[in-house]
Amino acid sequence: MEEQNPLTGVIEQLTKLPSIGQKSAQRLAFFFLSLSKAEVNQFAKILVETRENIKYCTTCFNISFTPQCMVCCDFERNQSILCVVAQPKEIFAIERTHEFKGLYHVLGGLISPIDGMQPDMLRISELILRIKSGQFKEVILALNPTVEGETTALYLASCLKGCPISITKLAYGLPVGADIDYADDMTLQKALSGRRTFE
Ligand SMILES: [Zn+2]
Repeated sequence: MEEQNPLTGVIEQLTKLPSIGQKSAQRLAFFFLSLSKAEVNQFAKILVETRENIKYCTTCFNISFTPQCMVCCDFERNQSILCVVAQPKEIFAIERTHEFKGLYHVLGGLISPIDGMQPDMLRISELILRIKSGQFKEVILALNPTVEGETTALYLASCLKGCPISITKLAYGLPVGADIDYADDMTLQKALSGRRTFE
C-alpha cells in the first residue's frame, strides 16, 4: 500500500475555505493537531450543529435557529424602518455599525440577467406584502453599489411606486463595485447615516 500524507484529507477540506491556499491550509492543519481531541470535537460539533439547525426567519429571511430571528423578536427596535439587503451576511455587517435599529428584509440575491437571476426568484412579493401592511414609514435599499444592486434597487422602486413610504438608499462613500459586507464599519456607518432619498 502506498504511504499517504496523513494531512491530505484535512488540507483538501481546508482549501475549500475562501482565501485559504495550500500553505495556509497546512498551517491550519497543524494548528488542529496542536489542539486536544476534545477541542477538535467541540469545533466540529458546533460547526455541524449550526449547519444542521440553521433556518431562515419566516418574516425577514435572516438566518435563525428559531422561526423568528433575533432582530424580528426584538420589540425595542424601530418597527417602522425596513432595511432591504441581498443576503443575511449584510445584516451582520450593518449590525456591527450599531447605526441601524430598524428591521430587515433579505431578498436572497440580486437581479442579474447574466446569471439567470430573475425578480421572481427573489423574495420581492414577500417584501411588497410586508410594506403593504402599512407598518413601515421608510424603506432603505442597502444593496451593493454594483450593476446588479442598482438594477434591483430600480426594480424595487418601481414595484413600490405609489406606496406611502419614503424610499432611501445608502450614501456614496461605498466604493463602486464593492461588497457591503467587506466595507469597513466606519464607511458603512456613514453610508447609513447619510442615506438619501432614492430617485
Ligand atoms: Zn427576522
